Amino acid sequence: MLKGMVLFDRLPARHAAKEKVFGEVKRSLAGAAGEKRTAELLERELDLAEKAKIFRGVWLPYMDGFAQVDVLVLHANFICALEVKNMVGEFYFDSINYQFYRIIEGRVEGMRNPEAQLHRAVKACEKFFGRKVQGTIVLSSRSGRVAVPPKLYPVIALDYLPFHIEKMVDPRLSFDVEGLEGLVRRSRGQFYDPDLLKKHELTKGCLEVGVRCLGCRQQKMEWSRLRWRCSKCGFVSADAHEFALQEYAVLFGNEITTEFAYTWLGIKDKYVLYRMLENSTIKINNRGRRLIIEKNELLIAYFESIYS
Ligand SMILES: [Zn+2]
Repeated sequence: MLKGMVLFDRLPARHAAKEKVFGEVKRSLAGAAGEKRTAELLERELDLAEKAKIFRGVWLPYMDGFAQVDVLVLHANFICALEVKNMVGEFYFDSINYQFYRIIEGRVEGMRNPEAQLHRAVKACEKFFGRKVQGTIVLSSRSGRVAVPPKLYPVIALDYLPFHIEKMVDPRLSFDVEGLEGLVRRSRGQFYDPDLLKKHELTKGCLEVGVRCLGCRQQKMEWSRLRWRCSKCGFVSADAHEFALQEYAVLFGNEITTEFAYTWLGIKDKYVLYRMLENSTIKINNRGRRLIIEKNELLIAYFESIYS
């Protein structure tokens, strides 16, 4: 999600992909909010003799890649994968050709079929755990309504979900929840992150370079008299280049050449650039390649304030 946010900020105002990237960021924020609400409700209201373990946003190996499980519920007597839809409108699950669309404000909008997404998630879980896994589509927004329901999996409104899940208990089953949890925790580091740049056919050359002003978010800042200065809003910073380097790392990976660092930071003076890189990167060879020291928390703190 960070990558989409940085990409959106770095695309020039009239770039063809800018709107699309913004749409993706908004959708993934809405998705994450729906998953969070679902997991929190289950933590609070699920009434089971033995406590269930609840995970959000788990990626499990599937076919040649990974499948995402929005919310995963592990319990001694059942395993359940949830596909959470935080959408408004009327939903149509077409069971003849398995298309999915919604009608919102009179417009028909085709989208990825949640049933197919859930099916992938369930299959991935079954393979991963070697157990039978149940699946449910969850509507986490109260302004969503199902006009035509799916065939393979139930669709349940969030408010009713705890009761629906409580009915999954099968006393004949007895899973080692801690063991399964261990498997999930070990798999969590591997996640499949589609390359947004490739997806939108973007190269480094499409993006705006320079150290952006974090005060007004609009202007490139200039380095003068030992500070970054914004001529528009007057914002002054000693370390705004750190943020710009983290943006670079999220978009392109941690490796940067000194040559491109001149362009990315908009610095002309060799000594100024070297001093900045000396503090924020590690030299990996003598041909000017460097590794940016990761400080994702800079980006997270900033974007949390923007998108909250
Ligand atoms: Zn500014």
